[in-house]
Amino acid sequence: MTLTTYNSQITLMKILCVLYDDPKGGMPKSYPLSNLPKLNKYPDGMTLPTPKGIDFNPGELLGCVSGELGLRKFLESKGHTLVVTSDKDAKGCKADKELVDADIVISQPFWPYYLTREKIETAKNLKMAITAGIGSDHVDLQAAMDKKIDVVEVTYCNSRSVAEHIVMMILSLVRDYHNQHAIVKAGGWNIADAVQRSYDVEGMHIGTVAAGRIGLDALRKMKPFDVHLHYFDRHKLPDSVEKELSLTFHESVESLVKVCDVVTINCPLHPETENLFDDKLISKMKKGAYIVNTARGKICNREAIAKALKSGQLSGYAGDVWFPQPAPNDHAWRSMPNHGMTPHTSGTSLSAQYRYAAGVREILECFFDKKPIRDPYLIVQNGQLAGMGAHSYSKGSATGGSEEAAKYKKNN
Ligand code: NAD
Repeated sequence: MTLTTYNSQITLMKILCVLYDDPKGGMPKSYPLSNLPKLNKYPDGMTLPTPKGIDFNPGELLGCVSGELGLRKFLESKGHTLVVTSDKDAKGCKADKELVDADIVISQPFWPYYLTREKIETAKNLKMAITAGIGSDHVDLQAAMDKKIDVVEVTYCNSRSVAEHIVMMILSLVRDYHNQHAIVKAGGWNIADAVQRSYDVEGMHIGTVAAGRIGLDALRKMKPFDVHLHYFDRHKLPDSVEKELSLTFHESVESLVKVCDVVTINCPLHPETENLFDDKLISKMKKGAYIVNTARGKICNREAIAKALKSGQLSGYAGDVWFPQPAPNDHAWRSMPNHGMTPHTSGTSLSAQYRYAAGVREILECFFDKKPIRDPYLIVQNGQLAGMGAHSYSKGSATGGSEEAAKYKKNN
């Protein structure tokens, strides 16, 4: 559909936005903090999102259905149609029905709308898939390339949020916070029970698989704990950074896991990294090591992790990413011993939501105004991996098995 104004023709579009459910008790009437700290730039100098305007208050819940990423007023004022839903997995779900004539799909990794090849083939008008966050593995990138659908994400918007979460999880696993908190909640005070798995992080060897925005920030944030830092990445960091943080670079993931007490995983999910932490790699880790995975659940083999925690090969596993999402109620990671899992939350703090909602608005403004979208936001463009996609992903798809998400049943 087109709308003719005095001097231009605007193509009216349908935007499908798949977001997580509202809070069970309805949208908050107030928030703990009245405003967010002001950030000017990301550490490498990149600017935060710069849309022409926003129609929400930073610090509000934006990532759920009623939050609508703060987009409705902006889109409807231009005559576009916005459809927002959380119904995304079961056969005949609302998202699938609306996809068939959608021009743009927006989805968040926390509640990913898995755009498999099969679904993409039903979407005859689809031009762009926007990830409100970072990590576009929920889109079959190969199908997007084949169909010339662009894929973009809001690079950097929540990288530092995740790095904070990683530090929290390393400390809480090694010091065994979850067990100690549970003892207090249950009215107990047995100190021996509380400390029999509790260690200091100081002096440990901590390694990251990938030292991109999140991995490097996590290393920087861990440095003051007086630990030994290691990394493996397909791109070597500048010598100055290696020197500043006294980093040990490893040529392979095997070499890194052999020497580390704690391994944090920070690479995207793509065919090269899918199932990387399987029985074989875990058996090469230091006995009793810890894994913190906030990258993507599918990088770790579900059964191999649960088995290693039971046998003691791993002392702990924490993270916020699962496969698929939402995780089926009987997913082995919900009940395995010594885990510190959360739902997928690290990149969707209220602080991060402000940045990615503003970033999505910036992307849409560029798209409607036919202006270039920032290069670092690009994953797929014109049928090729582009921007960060070319730097951090490989061709192919990692969406296989995502239909299992339909098995999740809300139990309350
Ligand atoms: P980034 O692009 O800055 O860094 C990714 C790094 O991974 C790059 O340095 C790249 O070279 C490296 N890499 C890619 N493939 C590799 C391979 N096969 N072997 C070794 N290194 C490889 O991205 P980022 O901002 O650091 O985010 C990384 C990932 O973290 C995202 O793709 C996403 O999956 C995940 N993430 C999770 C959350 C969350 O809420 N849990 C939020 C943001 C991002």
